[in-house]
Amino acid sequence: MSLTKEDVLQKAEELDVKFVRLQFTDILGVIKNVAITVDQLEEALDGEIMFDGSSIDGFTRIQESDMKLKPDYDTFTIFPWRPEEDGTVARLICDVYMPDGTPFEGGPRNVLQNALDEAAEMGYEMYLGPEPEFFLFEKDEEGEPTTITHDNGGYFDLGPIDEGQDARRDMVIALEKMGFDMEASHHEVAPGQHEIDFKYEDALKTADNIATFRFVVKSIANQHDLHATFMPKPIFGENGSGMHMNQSLFKDGENAFYDESDELGLSQTAKYYIGGLLEHANAIAAVTNPTVNSYKRLVPGYEAPVYKAWSASNRSALIRIPAARGAGTRVEMRNPDPAANPYLATAVMLKAGLDGIKNEIEPPAEVVDNIFAMSAQEKEEAGIESLPGNLHEAVNELLSDELIQKALGDHVLEHFVEAKRLEWDVYRTQVHDWELDQYLKTF
Ligand code: GLN
Ligand code: MG
Ligand code: MG
Ligand code: MG
Repeated sequence: MSLTKEDVLQKAEELDVKFVRLQFTDILGVIKNVAITVDQLEEALDGEIMFDGSSIDGFTRIQESDMKLKPDYDTFTIFPWRPEEDGTVARLICDVYMPDGTPFEGGPRNVLQNALDEAAEMGYEMYLGPEPEFFLFEKDEEGEPTTITHDNGGYFDLGPIDEGQDARRDMVIALEKMGFDMEASHHEVAPGQHEIDFKYEDALKTADNIATFRFVVKSIANQHDLHATFMPKPIFGENGSGMHMNQSLFKDGENAFYDESDELGLSQTAKYYIGGLLEHANAIAAVTNPTVNSYKRLVPGYEAPVYKAWSASNRSALIRIPAARGAGTRVEMRNPDPAANPYLATAVMLKAGLDGIKNEIEPPAEVVDNIFAMSAQEKEEAGIESLPGNLHEAVNELLSDELIQKALGDHVLEHFVEAKRLEWDVYRTQVHDWELDQYLKTF
């Protein structure tokens, strides 16, 4: 589908749109938007709407603050859950441009576009299917989120027990109305935890979909008086929330990861792609697992990856090859979490995979055993190393990996590292409840 400017104007009229939100994300992946009335839509479609970039996290300095938003016409959709009597609200996802018309290198969507352009030069198109997980929590009397789950009957007595399932169904309906092609949705392992899967699409569209998805899920949860969170590990002792990323490359309309004649049905291209992902996995983690909390999910015992390995047969590895072959052949990276900026996360994984292909990086042998059941010595013998153990380590890994730094570009790298260093410093200097429990009486 490729919409023209006239198509969008016509749709807006047919749907009686009153307001249009021009949407983009900041470096940390938070959705920002500028609302305009439908009277300004034509001007907006011409990319003439300016906004003050200096007020967006990590965007720009005051003296260069005027930036332009150029909508991607294909992303036009309405928000189906808004009351129609207020006038229909539509949105367009935008690329950010400098006043002189050049793409802004700090715009996450532009960063992904650069990686996709490189893939295109090599003849590849990237497809991406995410599996975002999240928790639904009760709110307290003041409307503040708690970590009490709707379906853990022991913790609270209020409300119908299946409020979470109702909310999830409404999320799926709203997403469908917005043009998402829905796949499975199910309750996850932890109390109050859910997963909603939508169909793979080209990588840019999927990254847009993830950004939209998080915002739709939060809005609908709110209507059910619940709080949806994509925080990776909200409850100690329970599974955290991941966002597995299923990725494949197509060349000339064919899945370039599939090779019928290979024992595992995987092409040499797929193997090099895996080699590239593993080679750069430490630096990638800074982007795909971007919070202090992300690393509390990546510990043994909760179905989340800890060790850098790949496997076609078990889920304990960082990279798994799901059973589908032919057009469905794909590589599933299992460490990304739903707090990641979907554009930046996709860009760094793709660049790592392409690096594997260009430099013919052979992955280590496939691991068929459950890595969590292997002893330290067995892991060492098999050359299996751990992912970074915390955000600080991951950021240092990023700073020693030139390819991943280049994938982000100078502007994003600088602002991202600055933000993450600060986050780590604030965290490491806090006195946490755990420390008080542990030391207050002992010493
Ligand atoms: N929640 C798990 C994680 O953290 C994944 C569980 C699953 O989907 N099998 O990655
Ligand atoms: Mg799943
Ligand atoms: Mg899952
Ligand atoms: Mg999965």
